[in-house]
Amino acid sequence: MPTLKPLDHWTSMAESLDIRTDAFIDGSYTPAASGETFDAVSPRDGRVIAKVAAGDTEDVDRAVAAARRAFDDGRWAGMAPAKRKRLMVRFADLIRANAEEIALLTSLEMGKPIADAMNIDVPATANNIAWYGEAIDKLLDEMPFVDPGALALVTREPAGVVGAVVPWNFPLIMASWKLGPSLAAGCSVILKPAEQSPLSAIRIAELASEAGIPDGVFNVVPGLGPTAGQALGRHMDVDVVTFTGSTEVGRMFMRYASESNMKRVYLELGGKTANIVFPDAYDLAAAAAVSAWGIFFNQGEMCTAASRLLVHSDVHDEVIERVVKRAGKMPPGDPLDPETKMGAIVDAAQLEKVLGYVEIGRSEGATLLTGGGRAMEDTGGLYAEPTVFDGVSPSMRIAQEEIFGPVLSTLTFGSWEEAVEIANGTMYGLAASIWTRDLSVAHKTARALRAGTVWVNCFEEGDITVPFGGVKASGFGRDKSLHAFDKFMDLKTTWIKLDQ
Ligand code: NAD
Repeated sequence: MPTLKPLDHWTSMAESLDIRTDAFIDGSYTPAASGETFDAVSPRDGRVIAKVAAGDTEDVDRAVAAARRAFDDGRWAGMAPAKRKRLMVRFADLIRANAEEIALLTSLEMGKPIADAMNIDVPATANNIAWYGEAIDKLLDEMPFVDPGALALVTREPAGVVGAVVPWNFPLIMASWKLGPSLAAGCSVILKPAEQSPLSAIRIAELASEAGIPDGVFNVVPGLGPTAGQALGRHMDVDVVTFTGSTEVGRMFMRYASESNMKRVYLELGGKTANIVFPDAYDLAAAAAVSAWGIFFNQGEMCTAASRLLVHSDVHDEVIERVVKRAGKMPPGDPLDPETKMGAIVDAAQLEKVLGYVEIGRSEGATLLTGGGRAMEDTGGLYAEPTVFDGVSPSMRIAQEEIFGPVLSTLTFGSWEEAVEIANGTMYGLAASIWTRDLSVAHKTARALRAGTVWVNCFEEGDITVPFGGVKASGFGRDKSLHAFDKFMDLKTTWIKLDQ
């Protein structure tokens, strides 16, 4: 990892940032039609850092109309794939070239450590967009063997206008999982960032334009979920909605679609990852260290956060002691300090939710081993202590519900069957991890777990080449990998009768 500049570099850069705050529609920045704005508040210190255009139905209508025009006249979908590739790669290069500014916006708007924004969010976003750009001119269509008197062509066609609605925890990475394959497929896109993290998304829109991506192809409409988000979900001229966020809002998008034009909806939703430590794990110290990191990284604001530690009774004491020690090494700190490992909680409602779950855990009878409180209140920012509960039983709310904060629930098991039953015993099915040295146990458990991703002797590993998504109430459809193209392309069959 490159050495990061010191705190004063970032604080002085933050003071002089020229922040874009308008929607980006049809190639230019534009205020909301209503003239309304909403406050972008930094959880770092509670300060309002920008007043952002509050997009609503009229703005979404304008963005969809621009996207439809751009799609229908073929300025993007009709461009040679090799040229589209070059423009997407240039877009990715411009994101890299503006890494510090984009990372700073991300860190300020949602509170993650600047080190993570610089080392993870920005490079991954650029890589994802470039990867899909690079893929466009390597895709092939199909010509199946059919009756010799006919020719059948199966061609992939871009699906049209895409609405992408994303959360705030990895504002640009989540956006890039949608933008990469949809733009590469030839679709036009309207991105609706979360109201907590609109600034980085607004900023990259002009970089797409600067890269040469034609007007109307990539639009950003900031705004609140129930207004701008709903308008996109209900729009009669949006062909596909790709959503990442909570299970609750995911349900709404299915309703919006059924009550409007039956647009296709793909959902990446919440999770309650089971992280299972069997007694024969290779290295309990490593398993414990990764378990702690897995719940405290990104302030626990991760769909895949290792929020349930399932530990075998034989190794419970050793593992839990190590996890608690690790928690002590990840105190929250100023997100702009490059040394900070855990930053601020995104907003007051989320902090209240996290602290509320601490109370629920206590009242349910779980044992609070460390943390549980608010931290650094004097900064005006929103910080929570890394928190570890032990003695959690599977039916407790802290074992069932997604907290989306740095709160670990530890459950103990005695047999393989019990571990699997507990692991599968929530409504979610996003990810799980297993720690064992026994190859058979690893395979058997991976098969038995109902989850989109299973990690063995590791956690949170991934690559843009492999699919990501959930089962059960964690959603359906896959982001990442070449499979993601399926969401943004329709198969067309052309059947040609040949002269006999
Ligand atoms: P959220 O569901 O509250 O919001 C997500 C997006 O939906 C935002 O853009 C928001 O403005 C919009 N929205 C909110 N209410 C809406 C409504 N009534 N109609 C239309 N749009 C609406 O989620 P969040 O708090 O931003 O993010 C946290 C959630 O995201 C967690 O549940 C987390 O697990 C999930 N998540 C899932 C993945 C994944 O890949 N599975 C990745 C990251 C986050």
